[in-house]
Amino acid sequence: MAGAAAAAHLAENGRRVVLLERESQPGYHSTGRSAALFTETYGNRAIRVLTGASRACYEARLDGFAEHPILTPRGALMFGMPGQQAKLDAAWADLSALDPRVRRLDAAAARAMVPVLRPDCVIGAVYEPDAMDIDVHELHQAYLRRLRRRGGRVVTDAEVQALAVADGCWTAAAAAGEFAAPVIVNAAGAWADDLAAKAGLPPVGLVPKRRTALTIPVPAGVDAARWPMTLDVTESFYFKPESGRLLVSPADETPMPPCDVQPDELDIAIAIDRLTGATSLTVGRIERKWAGLRSFVADKTTVCGFDPLARGFFWLAGQGGYGIQTAEGMARCAAALIDGGGLPADIAAKGLDAETLSPARLRA
Ligand SMILES: Cc1cc2nc3c(=O)[nH]c(=O)nc-3n(C[C@H](O)[C@H](O)[C@H](O)COP(=O)(O)OP(=O)(O)OC[C@H]3O[C@@H](n4cnc5c(N)ncnc54)[C@H](O)[C@@H]3O)c2cc1C
Repeated sequence: MAGAAAAAHLAENGRRVVLLERESQPGYHSTGRSAALFTETYGNRAIRVLTGASRACYEARLDGFAEHPILTPRGALMFGMPGQQAKLDAAWADLSALDPRVRRLDAAAARAMVPVLRPDCVIGAVYEPDAMDIDVHELHQAYLRRLRRRGGRVVTDAEVQALAVADGCWTAAAAAGEFAAPVIVNAAGAWADDLAAKAGLPPVGLVPKRRTALTIPVPAGVDAARWPMTLDVTESFYFKPESGRLLVSPADETPMPPCDVQPDELDIAIAIDRLTGATSLTVGRIERKWAGLRSFVADKTTVCGFDPLARGFFWLAGQGGYGIQTAEGMARCAAALIDGGGLPADIAAKGLDAETLSPARLRA
């Protein structure tokens, strides 16, 4: 998503762009494995600014951009269990300060929204009506279409194996041939530190963390289509309707090296245990299970900027658990910085500066 969005914006600005993808199709890794939620209250301040800066594009259905709406209403319900009153109060204080439309619900109102929550497991909730589902596939395809329409190329089966720079020109030796350009954008997801190493550059300290998900059928006779994404206040698990099924995650964050990550059976069991403990749902059959990597640097803010140690080497990494909802804002920042300007005016006006995003902050 990061590479496609940035490539589309750069092509729109008149740059000649080639997007090199190791796999046989784009979106095989984190982008194709997300929970597809958009919420402007998630993450730190920089992430929230970037998410907000993406919303207008996702909602606008700009001429010729997306073929279907990118965002559709979902809502998010964070509920407290017995003994979690203080945590629920704190969540209410945090979220209501960020979004005036956030509401506090008593246990009965929370259960009216998600009737499968067990009465003895809910003491109350905080409800965010503005949280949305993202059509990730459509958004990703929209960026790729925009890139191609502006003359850009997508080359798959093109793992970059070596990077060298001479006289201001980078050469990427890829499985699909050699490519040369004055600017390299490192949007390699969990592999971004590995790609930097191929250019002889030190890492920014990216830590990929496994997150697991599974889908189960909705019980017969239950209409779950309008349930919000539902999570407990300690974020130990969540579930949400997805294409007529329920997506469940144990919200795990297990650090691991970059890889084609697979789900661990223990995490699947934990997800089921937490779901069935807090709801009347039973799990007879798992339809699909998967895991993906959410890659963070130490301060959990995306890394977007030129490497101070190598002219023309631009980082677009560390999207963590927010890379879909921030993709447009991040890509606009990347394109503006690569074009030699500052951050886009609407993003700077929200108090975000280039230093906060720059890889230089991680080398201090
Ligand atoms: C279970 C789960 C739930 C999530 N839920 C949400 C959510 O609700 N909302 C949200 O906004 N985000 C969510 N995320 C996070 C989001 O999925 C990621 O932040 C985002 O997909 C990162 O996109 P990316 O383009 O940086 O990485 P990727 O999609 O992993 O893309 C990186 C690409 O680089 C390629 N690559 C790597 N090395 C090379 C090389 N040497 N040469 C060529 N190509 C290379 C890889 O093949 C890969 O395709 C979730 C993630 C997971 C796992």
